[in-house]
Amino acid sequence: MSSSPSPRPLYNFNRWVIKGIKLSSDVAVIKIRHDKRYLHRCPFCGQKMGENRRLWQVAKDLPLGTARLVEIIYEAIQGYCNNCQNCT
Ligand SMILES: [Zn+2]
Repeated sequence: MSSSPSPRPLYNFNRWVIKGIKLSSDVAVIKIRHDKRYLHRCPFCGQKMGENRRLWQVAKDLPLGTARLVEIIYEAIQGYCNNCQNCT
């Protein structure tokens, strides 16, 4: 009858996909990446951006239940916008 609760609904970010979740009694690690169905767009002007590189980065999040340490590992994309000349 019962199933294991999942934190997936808490990490339902638009244009991101959850690659994996590792839970223990006091640590939660959530790995997410960009949804490849969407183009990488400039956050300043909204135009399509070229990619310079991708790298994995880690952010700490607020405690989740008994997990005092919550890490979100995400794929950051660095690029350059030819339209407004901004970098991300
Ligand atoms: Zn731009």
